[in-house]
Amino acid sequence: MPVLLPCIFILCHGLALALFPAHARPISFGFLIAAPLLAGVVSVRRCRDGALKGGWIALALAMLSWAGGMAAGMYQEVFLANVDTTPGLSMLLYVLYGVPLTFVLASSENEVWHVRLIDGVLALMLGYLFFVHTFSFATASSATPQGIVNLRLMFDIENAFILAFAMVRYVASGDAASRGFFRVLAIFALVYMLAAFYINHLEPEDVDYGGFGDLVIDVPFLVLVAIAGIGSSRGGIKPSTRLAHIVRAGSPLMLPVTLLVVSSFIVRRHLDLAVAGFVVATLGYGLRSVLTQVRSFEHERQLDELARIDTLTGLANRRQFDEVLRHEWNRAQRSGEGLALLMIDIDHFKAFNDTFGHQEGDLCLRDVAQVLANTASRGSDLVARYGGEEFAVVLSSTTFEQACQVAESMRASVHRQLAVSREGLVTVSIGTGFMQRTNGGDAAELFAAADAALYEAKRTGRNRVVSRNMSVRSATIPAHQRG
Ligand code: GH3
Ligand code: MG
Ligand code: MG
Repeated sequence: MPVLLPCIFILCHGLALALFPAHARPISFGFLIAAPLLAGVVSVRRCRDGALKGGWIALALAMLSWAGGMAAGMYQEVFLANVDTTPGLSMLLYVLYGVPLTFVLASSENEVWHVRLIDGVLALMLGYLFFVHTFSFATASSATPQGIVNLRLMFDIENAFILAFAMVRYVASGDAASRGFFRVLAIFALVYMLAAFYINHLEPEDVDYGGFGDLVIDVPFLVLVAIAGIGSSRGGIKPSTRLAHIVRAGSPLMLPVTLLVVSSFIVRRHLDLAVAGFVVATLGYGLRSVLTQVRSFEHERQLDELARIDTLTGLANRRQFDEVLRHEWNRAQRSGEGLALLMIDIDHFKAFNDTFGHQEGDLCLRDVAQVLANTASRGSDLVARYGGEEFAVVLSSTTFEQACQVAESMRASVHRQLAVSREGLVTVSIGTGFMQRTNGGDAAELFAAADAALYEAKRTGRNRVVSRNMSVRSATIPAHQRG
């Protein structure tokens, strides 16, 4: 069906020209308006697939614009019988055809709306300057042979530009939807460029609409109908990540650079507009860079945060715990304030998992984490998941007594809030290590003390707190007993 329809279309166009030569011109105009409209309809249908919506909409807009240009041409030639000049509206619409395409080539689907807005403004400015430039060649007053040559050259450049960037985006696209879209766009751009080249450079000068040469104009749009209609998501080979990154980083340059080039073309005839083009290009690129940079900083911060958080419990993870313990140890050494470390281990957790299953075990880990976090009330306290069913708490600027109180409060809270609802199975054992003014050593000593205390708590019956004060070397304060 996708291939049949274009074939029937071009056959009908040719037959109509052959059968009704007297009305060849209006008939041909009808087909030349219908071909891009058909391509536009197919694009809109593809955008309903959901993938790369913006790209397909842009393509549909380009087709609509082109059909509009042809309709304006028909109005002038058929209804006003004026074949000597290219009408301004028609010219504007042909130029506008390139704006949505340039926009979609320069801009990524993943950009936030304000970055895309900047791209949109740049693309519109580009379209306007391009229009001013081409229109000055094409109006009756200045339609010199040189002007026509320049105009054709401009269109060749525009077509080659769209083709080149569609190919680059196709080669560098990371996902199947983008690759599929840019593949369609690249094929269409290639056929369009060839057809335009034929019409502008190879067809005899005096040929007008209504001849069989018009069938060539149908071809790119019908090719688009065929390949977009097939809807293949086969996108070819996956690009190297580096190439994809280079294209992704470089594509924001595309619009401003093109705008600078077009501005420089019009600098002699329209100095003020050219200056406006330079300013918009520079400001647009600058603003875009700032916004992208801000986004990338935020992204970096989020990643950094994620790398420091335990995904199951939402507590600090082992990495953050290590950093904080080292930091607090050094600070305590300098300030002489007390530092406590609590190592907490859920009792008989293997049995819990065996009884209730691993999923329930995970929920239990979350509940324990919640209770511990709620009990550590000071902002400076750090509660972390050390690994498995073990947690660690760093209490800075504290005293031995306060640390013991917090540990006991944690043990009692878990027992009170969780054990009761889970057949008495959820309790924790806690080893507390404390140090003040130890002069030298490192955090590993505090850790060893807390770990030894935890071992002791397990050994002496579980669901209890054992605390060791390293300030008073070798003193062991045992068993804050269970409730
Ligand atoms: P003890 O009182 O001596 O600490 O006994 P225990 O059973 O808690 O200790 P053991 O080290 O024998 O078992 C720890 C269990 O914790 C084994 C493992 O299945 C469970 N566990 C560790 N990490 C997770 C986890 O992320 N989710 C779940 N559901 N279970 C975990
Ligand atoms: Mg354990
Ligand atoms: Mg355990």
